[in-house]
Amino acid sequence: EANERESLYLVNEFANTYFQKILHKTDQGKSIGLSYFKERGFTVDTIKAFNLGYSLDEWQGFTDEALKKGYQIQFLEKTGLTIVKEDKRFDRFKGRVMFPIHSMSGRILGFGGRILGADKKAAKYMNSPESEVYHKSKILYGLFHAKQAIAKEDNCYLVEGYTDVIQFYQTGIKNVVASSGTALSPEQIRLINRLTKNITVLFDGDAAGLRASLRGIDLILEQGMNVKVCTFPKGDDPDSFARQNTVEELTEYLEENAKDFIQFKASLLVEDAKNDPIKKADTIREIVNSIAKIPDPIKREIYIRECSNIMDISEQVLFTTLAQINKKGSQ
Ligand code: ATP
Ligand code: MN
Ligand code: MN
Ligand code: MN
Repeated sequence: EANERESLYLVNEFANTYFQKILHKTDQGKSIGLSYFKERGFTVDTIKAFNLGYSLDEWQGFTDEALKKGYQIQFLEKTGLTIVKEDKRFDRFKGRVMFPIHSMSGRILGFGGRILGADKKAAKYMNSPESEVYHKSKILYGLFHAKQAIAKEDNCYLVEGYTDVIQFYQTGIKNVVASSGTALSPEQIRLINRLTKNITVLFDGDAAGLRASLRGIDLILEQGMNVKVCTFPKGDDPDSFARQNTVEELTEYLEENAKDFIQFKASLLVEDAKNDPIKKADTIREIVNSIAKIPDPIKREIYIRECSNIMDISEQVLFTTLAQINKKGSQ
């Protein structure tokens, strides 16, 4: 099995070199892929630092080249880079810019590929399928590039996408990783937890899913970590915002707008419930549910006091609700 994993890594690493060669050295790569990245404001240094690449708009460009170089079809198929259908073999990523996904030690686990232009039928991003080396719930994009900065800054910014990570890094904020569109998993949080106890979650300004994502954050609290959240102006995500600002401006924005998660959630829910008493009751339970996840009893008590103020409800009721939740949880 270790042998098979190694074979998959070698295929991915060949593909990583190949997609970069296509991006930097071919006419199609340069005129389509490289200009796309440059239009997004990425410098050549950044493009190279993240090993970004391009996959030709052809059916078998990569697969043919890999077979010619002696890579075995079974491993090409298992990495998902080649799709095998009966006697046909074709490239999974076709006409996409490529984002290789590195392990903590810099090996290539898989790829994300972004479509160019606006083909409404195709998914904007496509990822490698699950394999012996690619487990999407155990991967954080950017961790290889960010790990030192996370430890040094004793904080980790968590964003949604590949381009958010890359643009932050280029702007000069390197302690940043992305969950890449999946719901945050306990394994992903554990990866960060080993480097720092502090997470700042950055939400896209569109934030259609803001309220839904707040629930996922309870998983971070459960691991005893300190969580802040920060939103961006409507229409911006961390990538577009970083692109319009210097590192000083970006740092200042983050410092001024990052809010303690529990306080943020309490304020938001209170605002939602306004003068609806029934909704307000649900809201109070919801926030106490989050507080119940915090392992440290001292922090729990401090948050109960805070939320009592924010939500204009007695501490006594909040403590009683907390006790009920704890009792249910331990049954
Ligand atoms: P861009 O700026 O290139 O349009 P983004 O990173 O801002 O991309 P979002 O729509 O905010 O894209 O999505 C965040 C992340 O979710 C993406 O970076 C990607 O990892 C993942 N994602 C988005 N759309 C898809 C999709 N259709 N299939 C799989 N993953 C996706
Ligand atoms: Mn988004
Ligand atoms: Mn974006
Ligand atoms: Mn986005």
